[in-house]
Amino acid sequence: MNTYKAVVGDCISALSRAVKPATSLVNNCRILMYHAVGTEVPGDIQKLYNMPVKIFRQQIEQLAYFQRSGSLCIYDLTVGVETSSGLVITFDDGYLDNFTVAAPILIKYELPFTVFVAPKLILDGDTRYLSIAALKELAALPGVTIGGHGYSHRRLTELDDQVLKNELLDSRSWLEDIIDKPVLTMSYPHGAVDERVLGFVTDLGFTTAASSKFGVFNREHSRLSLPRTDIWARDTLKRFNSKLGGAWDWMTYFSQ
Ligand SMILES: [Zn+2]
Repeated sequence: MNTYKAVVGDCISALSRAVKPATSLVNNCRILMYHAVGTEVPGDIQKLYNMPVKIFRQQIEQLAYFQRSGSLCIYDLTVGVETSSGLVITFDDGYLDNFTVAAPILIKYELPFTVFVAPKLILDGDTRYLSIAALKELAALPGVTIGGHGYSHRRLTELDDQVLKNELLDSRSWLEDIIDKPVLTMSYPHGAVDERVLGFVTDLGFTTAASSKFGVFNREHSRLSLPRTDIWARDTLKRFNSKLGGAWDWMTYFSQ
């Protein structure tokens, strides 16, 4: 986010916090959305999604502290959505650093997390993304869930019915073959989802699907269109805590 937008956002969030109490995570599940941790993200013009390792570590240590002190429960995606409570950690796209950098930090604190992977990004051989061997190892770690992210990371809303169906089915079957576990969850590439896409995702039996719409999940939302809380590379601990407390949820009105 451009600096001036971040400053305006901080001001609106401070105001929002002043007029309403922080969002409780009882009957609300806050699903964090990360991308890379220490790797440049293609097309990331606003430099939002390459989380510096130091900041990521601080954020996770903060979450671990909240969990230890009993003020926050961190669940895997399925439990968070089923109970509609607590906090969930997700990563989009399948960067190699999710395995080499993020996983050791999260596992140290026994925090579960989900990585949404688009097979073609792996098969194209770009070393920023997981290799097949790294994906297998990541999937076998405790507390790790692998979800789909389309087969080739295209906007699902722009595809005809047959191609759309193939994107969903091929991503799932490829991942299931590699990790030898069922893949029942996914996130929408570029956050692109509409009623037609939702229809296919429902018919093909996915149980949960994450959107990129900013917000906190509660029972009023569809499990196939989960809002998430976007975490940016320049989120200081102050802003991170502000997002956790719901002070940035006004952004739900401005996101897709
Ligand atoms: Zn993506």
